[in-house]
Amino acid sequence: MPSSPLVTLRDIYLAQSRIEPLVRRTPYAFSEILSERVGSQVGFKLENLQITGSFKIRGAANKLLSLSDEERAAGVVVVSSGNHGRAVAYVAGRLGIRATICVSSRVPLHKVDAIRTLGAEVEIVGERQEDAEVRAADLVKNRGLTYVNPFDDLEVIAGQGTVGLEILRQSPKVKSVIVPLSGGGLISGIALVMNSTDPAISVIGVTMERGPAMYLSLDAGTPVTVDEQETLADALIGGIGIENQYTLEICNRFVDDVILVSEEEIADAMMFAYSEHRLILEGAGAVGIAALLAGKAEAREETTVVLSGGNVELGRFKAVMEGCC
Ligand SMILES: *Cc1c(COP(=O)(O)O)cnc(C)c1O
Repeated sequence: MPSSPLVTLRDIYLAQSRIEPLVRRTPYAFSEILSERVGSQVGFKLENLQITGSFKIRGAANKLLSLSDEERAAGVVVVSSGNHGRAVAYVAGRLGIRATICVSSRVPLHKVDAIRTLGAEVEIVGERQEDAEVRAADLVKNRGLTYVNPFDDLEVIAGQGTVGLEILRQSPKVKSVIVPLSGGGLISGIALVMNSTDPAISVIGVTMERGPAMYLSLDAGTPVTVDEQETLADALIGGIGIENQYTLEICNRFVDDVILVSEEEIADAMMFAYSEHRLILEGAGAVGIAALLAGKAEAREETTVVLSGGNVELGRFKAVMEGCC
């Protein structure tokens, strides 16, 4: 990566003004009880309350609004573990762009239904994310659709960075931000904002023990492929892309630490969010709380935990609340 960053603070401000009509400025909520537990000031950035139920609409909106007229006319295709597909489907619907969503059969049915309801075409291909990717590449090559990468794309990263701009407004003294991590689009955008503002602000990624692709890739210094495993944090399943262009490098430079949490810790965090705050979080959305409750992440004065999504199927949510795992 050249010394001048590929995504600047200006790009993220531009994204903010571009996507404003389509996204919600989500609330920030101080958590007295979690602050007491960890001995410092902790607040939540409530992206679980975002339109479509996760932050992914920010990157999707910035990407689709950056397309040329020709690209818009041809339509877009995405491969998604759910929330990205849902976000692209929603934005495409609002902008009158045709969207095709390729998913693997692993993706929970309620997420597929939600995408169809938004008017997008859904293709269920194979058992692994990779199978869906092959189909999407085919549509790009043979039908001229634009592929919308869920994280490794400069417009997507700039869009997710708008979460960071909002955190700075809502908690100007923030010293530490804890962010759910999969492919690294969300944390890259937030880390670029925090680093441009004050390099002393720490940015911590949290992901699950079961298949932590970015964690292993940072360790190896190159993209590492992981086996996909069942996890409560299903939105975090998947690799970072064998040809990763941006997020590995940005995480390597600007992310201070990556923490792994167990299934039990994720379940405890979902339970905590519901019983103490009446917040319904999906597993991926709860990993930041999990890291704090488990004592794995150090809370510095003024910590913000990003609660990245709330799209959990009712049956699974009930099972977790009843202590299934
Ligand atoms: C996609 C997603 C993440 C991870 O975002 P990346 O940009 O891939 O790191 C975290 N939480 C939720 C709810 C998601 O949908």
